Amino acid sequence: MTSETKAKIAIAGGGLLGRLLAWRLSQRNLDITLFEAGELSMPGGACWTAAGMISPLSELVNSEKQVYTQGLQSLNLWSDWSRLLEQQSGSAVEFRRAGSVLVAHGKDRSELVQFLRELQGKLGESAREQVQPLDAKSLAKLEPALHSFEQGLYLRGEADINNHRLLPVLLHVLRENGVKLRERTKVNCAPGRILLAQGDEAFDGVIDCRGLGAKGQIEGLRGVRGEVMVVESREVVLQRPVRLLHPRYKLYAVPRSDGRTVIGATEIESEDMSPISVRSSMELSSALYSLNPAFAEARILETRVNCRPATMDNMPVIQNEQGLIRVNGLYRHGYLLAPAVVKQVENLVAQQLLQVV
Ligand SMILES: Cc1cc2nc3c(=O)[nH]c(=O)nc-3n(C[C@H](O)[C@H](O)[C@H](O)COP(=O)(O)OP(=O)(O)OC[C@H]3O[C@@H](n4cnc5c(N)ncnc54)[C@H](O)[C@@H]3O)c2cc1C
Repeated sequence: MTSETKAKIAIAGGGLLGRLLAWRLSQRNLDITLFEAGELSMPGGACWTAAGMISPLSELVNSEKQVYTQGLQSLNLWSDWSRLLEQQSGSAVEFRRAGSVLVAHGKDRSELVQFLRELQGKLGESAREQVQPLDAKSLAKLEPALHSFEQGLYLRGEADINNHRLLPVLLHVLRENGVKLRERTKVNCAPGRILLAQGDEAFDGVIDCRGLGAKGQIEGLRGVRGEVMVVESREVVLQRPVRLLHPRYKLYAVPRSDGRTVIGATEIESEDMSPISVRSSMELSSALYSLNPAFAEARILETRVNCRPATMDNMPVIQNEQGLIRVNGLYRHGYLLAPAVVKQVENLVAQQLLQVV
C-alpha cells in the first residue's frame, strides 16, 4: 500500500491496551486514530490508578494457569518493549525486574506455607525453582526495611513497571509516530465504524479498548473496585514490590524511584467510584505500619480509586469479527497480561487487513 492508501485503523480507548496497541500498530504501515473519552495526559482509566506489578507467580494462586503462562510471555515482551520505548522517547519507563518479596507476621506463618503449597499444586516442582524461602537473615539482606520479619518468600522472576512513566512515554511516542489523537471524544464502536455524537466515521478496522466504557457490549463485563494510597517516606526504602500475607488482609507496597510507595489491598465487588473509605485507609495504613513502624511518619500524598474491567470468569476476552475487534477484561492483570494480549490482537489485525486489501 502507498501512504495514500494506508489502511485506516481506529482504536477506541486511550488506556493501557489502547496506547500499547496504537504504538505497536503505528510501527507498521497503517494510519492510526486513537479516540479517548477523557484527557490523554491524565488518564481516567484503571491504567493510571494501578500499581504496575507484573506478578505471574503471586497472581497464579487465585487465577487460571493461562494468567501465569501469558504473564511469563508478557514479562519477556516488557523487557524488550520497555527498552524500545526508552530508545524511541529518550525517557525511562522504569521497568524493574528485581523480583518481589512475600512476608507474613509470625502468627500468620501458615499463609506463606499455604501460598507455596498452592503454587506447587499448580506448577509442580518447578514452583520450588522459582520461589526462594527466606529466613530472617537473608530477608534482611534482600530488603533491609523488613528486618523485623522472621521469614518470607522471594519470587525472583517477578517485575513491575512505573505506569506514571510508561503511559506518558507511550503518548509521546504515539505523537512522534504520527498517530492521530482525538481526546475528549467519547465514541461507540461498530464493524468498520466509529460512532460519534456528530455522526459515523468509516475505518478499515476498529479496535475497542474502552475497558469499562464497553459495558453492555461485552457480556457480563463489570467493574471491580480497587483503592490505592501513595505515601512518601524518608525513613523506609523498599527495593522491590512487597506483599504482606494476612488471613483477612493482603497488602502490597510498590516503591518508586522518587521515594514514593504505592500501597493497596482492597478488591471490592462494586462499581462505586467514590473516594477511599476511612476503613480502607485505616486498614492500609496499619498494614503498612506493621511492615515497618517507621512508615508511621510517611506522608499520604494521594489516594486513588478506580474499577478494573472484569469478565464473568475474570479472564481477558478478545472478540473478533470482520472490521471490529473487542479486547477487554484485563481485570487486575492489565500490566501482567497486556503485551501477550496485544500480540494476539496484532495478529488478528494483520489477518483482517489481508482480507481487506
Ligand atoms: C487499584 C488498581 C490496582 C491495579 N494494579 C495492577 C497491578 O499492579 N498490575 C496489573 O497488572 N494490573 C493492575 N490493575 C489492573 C489494570 O489497571 C487494568 O487491568 C488495565 O488498566 C486495563 O486496561 P484497559 O486499557 O483495558 O482499560 P483502562 O486502563 O481502564 O483504559 C480504558 C480507556 O478507555 C477510555 N474510554 C472509556 N469509554 C470510552 C469511550 N466511550 N470512548 C473513548 N474512550 C473511552 C477510558 O477513559 C480509558 O482511558 C490495577 C487496577 C486497579 C484499579
